[in-house]
Amino acid sequence: MKRQKIKYPYEFDPEKRRVARHYTRAKIINRVASNFLVPIIFFTIILATGFSAYLRDFSLESGGFLYIQLYAIIFFILLTLVEFPLDFYSTYVYDRKYRLSNQTLKGWSRDFFKGLGLSYAFGLAMITFLYYILAATPYWWIVASIATVLFAVFISYISPVILLPIFYKLEPYRDRKQKKRLIEMCKRAGVPDVKNILVMRESEKSSRPNALFSGLGNTKRIILFDNLISQFTAAEVETVVSHEVGHYVHKDNIKFTIIEAVRTFPAFFIISLVLLGSIGLFGITGMADIANFPLFMLAFEVIEIIIMPLVNAYSRKIEIAADIFSLRHSSRPEAQVSTEKRLADLSLSDDSPHPLVEFLLYTHPAPRKRIEYAKEWRKYRKK
Ligand SMILES: [Zn+2]
Repeated sequence: MKRQKIKYPYEFDPEKRRVARHYTRAKIINRVASNFLVPIIFFTIILATGFSAYLRDFSLESGGFLYIQLYAIIFFILLTLVEFPLDFYSTYVYDRKYRLSNQTLKGWSRDFFKGLGLSYAFGLAMITFLYYILAATPYWWIVASIATVLFAVFISYISPVILLPIFYKLEPYRDRKQKKRLIEMCKRAGVPDVKNILVMRESEKSSRPNALFSGLGNTKRIILFDNLISQFTAAEVETVVSHEVGHYVHKDNIKFTIIEAVRTFPAFFIISLVLLGSIGLFGITGMADIANFPLFMLAFEVIEIIIMPLVNAYSRKIEIAADIFSLRHSSRPEAQVSTEKRLADLSLSDDSPHPLVEFLLYTHPAPRKRIEYAKEWRKYRKK
């Protein structure tokens, strides 16, 4: 991957800014509909019409001792069918229209079914475990919370090593000069043992640039999207990587694990009260009755929506801290401003969304704010 002539410092493209506003707005509406509205309506209908109780009876008759798994598979298939149109439109039709995605229908379908396979496998394991502990103890919510936190840790540990390669080709980074430069930067930033830098072939799927810093101990690695290498200058790549190193040095993954724990315990406790109160309604016969699963999901979803702005606010705080870390440790802080502008144009993100939208949904501060922050930092530093 040879770097072509890259314009530096990068300035916003006014046409891209205009398109980005349209794109982001439609994407947000789509996200709210597909992540919250559609599932909530689906869970409510399936519960309130008594279909869930009917499905339980059917599963008991046809599935024998595997009736929970049979119920779960039918439930997941129905949910997949309901979510499919929006999902397909958003990730295939819409992203292709804006040239963010260059996947063929075949490539898209392959990823879709791989993702589906994984979520069905994890979902089945989760339901089996959940209804086992629901039947076993009234303190199931404590067991479920501990299991959820452990599972989150497990996923963050295996995802770069096992899950990522299911979807992406990873290859060693061959640019020796830049590799040396990035490893030196890690050393300066206080992470001396990074040896592995990998390149992820995102360009086969989309034009999105990004970088990840992942793993612990021997699996510690930097993963660069090939789009980042091909479209950003060496100094810009360094700012992106040092931001990720910032997350690592600040132990942000541990902080998020703690947040996960703090939100999971009360959430499951509330759900346990909801499930207890539902016995006798909608054909539900007890705590461990699989017919209450839509209610479980509904309560979970509603709690998630209530907690989300708080978690996002915390995430934005962590992101600014990583930006400041990057300003301190990359060799050219002015590259950060250029990087933010280039990133926003390439991924068509709105640089200054409505404050309410940012407050509710943004895990990262709006690009305009990050740019202002970097500029402020430079001014302050020059004094
Ligand atoms: Zn970040």
